[in-house]
Amino acid sequence: MGGELNFDEYESRLARPVRVKVPDFQVGDRLRHIIFSSQFTPQLLERIGRVADRIRLLAKSVPGHRFLNNLLPHKRAMLYFTQPSTRTFLSFAAACQILGMACNEVRDPAVSSEAKGESPFDSIRMFSSYFDAIIMRSAIPRFAECCAYMMNDLARTQRRNIPIINAGAGADEHPTQALLDIYTLQRAFKFESVRDSSKWKHFDELRSLYPGLRQGIAGKTFGFCGDIRRGRTARSLVQLLTLYEDITVYFIAPQHPTLALPNDLKERLLSRGMNVREVSSFEEQVDGRPVIEHLDCLYMTRIQREHNSASDENEFKEIDFSRFCLNKDLVSRMRRHAAILHPFPRDAAFGEIPTEIDSDDRAYYFRQARNGMWVRAALLAHVFDVDGAINDYYDDYTRDMQIAPG
Ligand code: ASP
Repeated sequence: MGGELNFDEYESRLARPVRVKVPDFQVGDRLRHIIFSSQFTPQLLERIGRVADRIRLLAKSVPGHRFLNNLLPHKRAMLYFTQPSTRTFLSFAAACQILGMACNEVRDPAVSSEAKGESPFDSIRMFSSYFDAIIMRSAIPRFAECCAYMMNDLARTQRRNIPIINAGAGADEHPTQALLDIYTLQRAFKFESVRDSSKWKHFDELRSLYPGLRQGIAGKTFGFCGDIRRGRTARSLVQLLTLYEDITVYFIAPQHPTLALPNDLKERLLSRGMNVREVSSFEEQVDGRPVIEHLDCLYMTRIQREHNSASDENEFKEIDFSRFCLNKDLVSRMRRHAAILHPFPRDAAFGEIPTEIDSDDRAYYFRQARNGMWVRAALLAHVFDVDGAINDYYDDYTRDMQIAPG
């Protein structure tokens, strides 16, 4: 059983290792359902990132915008978000609009037929009658995965079935957040985008400060700070980072079982060759320097207090959480090109990232959120097989720009 939902029918499929499940969510080399971050290969991440870059450029001009807007006017998306969301919901809605897709929403099951006892599985099947994709966030772990199996079963009997996109499933996974995080890192570590690294027009200058620094995600050192065990975004991203060579990750979290890196995840990361260290503050010394000075990227998370049990509340009183909050002094000691990410929302009362950091060049979190819109549009373009058309149009468009007078 999953929550009050009965998953018996899917139990044997759910029990398989993720790598065995992945082909179930593809048609050929194209993703059909997006359920786990491990569905993304490095090549696919590159392809989607490139299309996202092209969409963001095309969307700036009237003809480019018109072209994008005419790609999917015959498709409709249902945004079924029964758990709170601001950025994921709005950026998916904006992504649909960029590609000309109409979208509709159900955010509160109390105003749908679920209030009359309808099973969420029936709701999903009904949505599939009216829409061409379901983008869903649910508090019930594994529900999105089961919905993808339901759609596959319908496909097998030639009945109507549509893609399922997991926009955050309980404590499990948040694959499209991991996608936008990787896209943000791809851009940051190119050291060439004016927006993302205007201060690094001269990469060589930066390299003279940090010998050995190279372009790209490989070889970088990451810090993940805060609520690691309950933070589905951190867990989804760190698994994607295992796709890149020579990655070091410091987990900076209270050593409490509710918050610290879970052992099974640690084992998985180590078995994939990642260099993993757990530390108890930004100041902990590693090779003679504090951790904060080693990082190329710091992924901050909020402590998810809404999930605290009564005993957590009690035991957390003993923890000095200020060690897991940034301040100006810490940021000023970070590497000059380092990127501070946060999936947001940040917790204003807790203060893991005080607003005084926002004006620092290393604060990437607003750009990161905006990247979510472009990369989700690129993902929809991939799912609906219009990414090739975008690439062709972009090639013609940039060629015309070059020969255009003036
Ligand atoms: N927005 C993120 C999520 O949906 C992170 C958070 O809520 O703290 O998981």
